Amino acid sequence: MTDTLTTPEPSLQPETPLKKVFIKTYGCQMNVYDSSRMADALAADGYRTTEVMEEANLVLLNTCHIREKAADKVYSALGRLRDMKKARQAKGEEFMIGVTGCVAQAEGEEIIRREPGVDVVIGPQTYHRLPDALKKARTGRRVVDTDYAVEDKFEHLPDPTKIPGKRRSVTAFLTVQEGCDKFCTFCVVPYTRGSEVSRPLSQIVDEVKRLADSGVREITLLGQNVNGWHGESRNGAPMGLGDLLYELAEIPGLARLRYTTSHPRDMDDRLIEAHRDLRVLMPYLHLPVQSGSDRILKAMNRRHKAADYLALIERIRAARPDIALSGDFIVGFPGETEEDFADTMALVEKVGYAQAFSFKYSTRPGTPGAELDNQVDEEVKSERLARLQELLLRQQHDFARSLVGQTMDILLEKPGRMEGQVIGKSPWLQSVNVDAKSLQIGDIIKVRITDTGPNSLFAEVAPG
Ligand code: SF4
Repeated sequence: MTDTLTTPEPSLQPETPLKKVFIKTYGCQMNVYDSSRMADALAADGYRTTEVMEEANLVLLNTCHIREKAADKVYSALGRLRDMKKARQAKGEEFMIGVTGCVAQAEGEEIIRREPGVDVVIGPQTYHRLPDALKKARTGRRVVDTDYAVEDKFEHLPDPTKIPGKRRSVTAFLTVQEGCDKFCTFCVVPYTRGSEVSRPLSQIVDEVKRLADSGVREITLLGQNVNGWHGESRNGAPMGLGDLLYELAEIPGLARLRYTTSHPRDMDDRLIEAHRDLRVLMPYLHLPVQSGSDRILKAMNRRHKAADYLALIERIRAARPDIALSGDFIVGFPGETEEDFADTMALVEKVGYAQAFSFKYSTRPGTPGAELDNQVDEEVKSERLARLQELLLRQQHDFARSLVGQTMDILLEKPGRMEGQVIGKSPWLQSVNVDAKSLQIGDIIKVRITDTGPNSLFAEVAPG
């Protein structure tokens, strides 16, 4: 049965004995953020997180719908969990199963119908109601709550810096925008996350201040279309993401800001000026283009041309010459010819990426791309992807090698695997291994890069 839930008031005092939740997160950084906020909401209900599924009393699958057969994969994971649930219940232990995230939103009641072991199905906009849903489920009423909630979930989540026992990293994600109105023809996000919504300025500023006060040095602002963020200043003037960055840059204790993921069409002048003016804004930008062919960009409904993207990159580089670019690419979109693919390779050669994510096109049910009948042969897609990835990997290594001998600031994030080693993060989002015994996590130190590894850099503390 489906229940509509009321919103619980956040309370940090557990009412029930300590229970454990294991959250399996699929997909993007926004899901990583959502998982951490779900853990916050559950902390008020007496749950602590565990990394060991077998010792959990609640398993949540925080799902992603972006890849092909995403729902099938969730159903097969649920089948395995059902067996675990039977075994745990036979021992008289509580073991509940929840599905959250985009597959929950897309499948809804169907999950409950197909999988008898599932107790709750909660969409991305209603996870603040999880504790209430679990209470209902304990009385035998399975809950599906996939509304686009009228209330703001962020208003109803506990302050993450006040969760007892929560381990705080020196870096944090913070969702500032959700949903998307762009309707790229390959993408399910507008259907699973709904239309674009921006969190208000005051809420974001308060959360950043709390995080900075609790020792967070670097914050990555998240949004499916983060540079579509818009809000109002205290005087009622319209603001965009660039204005927001200027505002956040003033917050004491915050050393680094990043944002992702952006759409080229929303890179406005103010945002580019922010890259020029704000040292706190790291010189790294993830700006997906997906294809270098105008014909394919049109079919994808990206509503810009390859030349527009290249001109934009030029403007951004003129404003911030040390900026490094990252991108997303889809190869084998329906109708992509060898000539179209050559345009993508040419664009990559022109831009020179420091990092990139590339995939073969796969149909996502419900998207216009899935209806197209000129699908590209799998073998052709694989062969093109291999060529593209070879080029992108070469560029990534070239960029890393260009840093050898350079001095840079790194933010120390965690101890390394070797005794006396610390792992820091470069301004360009690379892991940097540095040997030094007396370094403090959270410090920003100057290092000189000495070498590169397959996925990280090596450095020594710079003199002076
Ligand atoms: S802009 Fe991004 S999130 Fe929005 S539809 Fe396109 S790919 Fe999906």
